[in-house]
Amino acid sequence: MKMLNEMFPSYNIQANVNLGNYTNTRVGGPADWCFWPKTQHELQQVVLFANEANLPITVLGNASNLVITDDGRQGVVIFLTEMHQIKVFQNNIIAEAGAWIIDVAQMAYDYSLTGLEWAAGIPGSIGGAVFMNAGAYGGQIDQVVQSVDVITPMGEIKTYPVADLAFGYRHSLVQETGDIIISATFAMQSGKRAEIGSKMTDFNERRAQKQPLEFPSCGSVFKRPTGYFAGKLIMDSGLQGCQIGGAQVSTKHAGFIVNRGQATGSDYVNLISHIQDVVYEKFSVNLETEVRILGRK
Ligand SMILES: Cc1cc2nc3c(=O)[nH]c(=O)nc-3n(C[C@H](O)[C@H](O)[C@H](O)COP(=O)(O)OP(=O)(O)OC[C@H]3O[C@@H](n4cnc5c(N)ncnc54)[C@H](O)[C@@H]3O)c2cc1C
Repeated sequence: MKMLNEMFPSYNIQANVNLGNYTNTRVGGPADWCFWPKTQHELQQVVLFANEANLPITVLGNASNLVITDDGRQGVVIFLTEMHQIKVFQNNIIAEAGAWIIDVAQMAYDYSLTGLEWAAGIPGSIGGAVFMNAGAYGGQIDQVVQSVDVITPMGEIKTYPVADLAFGYRHSLVQETGDIIISATFAMQSGKRAEIGSKMTDFNERRAQKQPLEFPSCGSVFKRPTGYFAGKLIMDSGLQGCQIGGAQVSTKHAGFIVNRGQATGSDYVNLISHIQDVVYEKFSVNLETEVRILGRK
């Protein structure tokens, strides 16, 4: 059978790519293949080929909510960052999966549409935000999503209305189906531009004050356990500043693990499990990761 790049010579496909160059943490080993589709058609063609060839597929947006281990990733890693069109139609915004949620929030502001102010500082894509049901400051993506278009693992295009997406805390149906999100439609409300702008500024100032934005990271590492705050449990366990290799529990926000320079995927994985052990020992609370840990196996 032909190799992926021989099959699609005009597509942006590269072999043996170091994923650490593309993740927000700056850690991660090699992917067998990376593919940056420019169109839905290109994406569909590669999905169909990968299925035929039994090539595992991993779809990434801005890689801001995951840790990739040092062994990297098998098969083809698809980055949707080149599919980033955003359109406004009356009070609806239609955004391709690779669009930055920050740009979508900015577009909403430009058109005086309210509902995405909370997302103004989240460094992820629309696909990643829908997949994770991202949220902040009382807002969450499921409050504004109207429908989501996907390519199914069999290569078919399908539209899910919001009611079918089983959204929950940092959960969506897509986490179980293996669908690839290609675009989302948001039902916004018309609002006052100045008020939208000042909310966005306020949220971004709060973010800069509390979060270690000066270092590479993957955001909050753990989900909020019922009745607790992960960051406070970690702080009260005396773990703030704790470092394994180049990965460190942020001294600014204990829920973040920052890369202090030369961190590896193993440093991240080892520090995550050390935190889970210590917090469990002290408080009998299981910290579940919000970030996805992806490796070769
Ligand atoms: C400094 C910082 C602050 C953050 N603040 C917040 C916050 O306030 N609230 C919050 O919720 N998150 C926050 N995050 C986490 C992250 O930015 C969001 O979850 C974001 O929505 C993830 O998008 P992404 O494109 O980076 O996803 P990725 O990290 O690329 O992917 C995350 C998961 O989604 C899957 N995925 C991505 N795109 C698709 C697609 N098109 N189809 C199918 N699956 C897909 C991936 O396979 C992966 O499993 C923060 C991160 C950082 C670094």
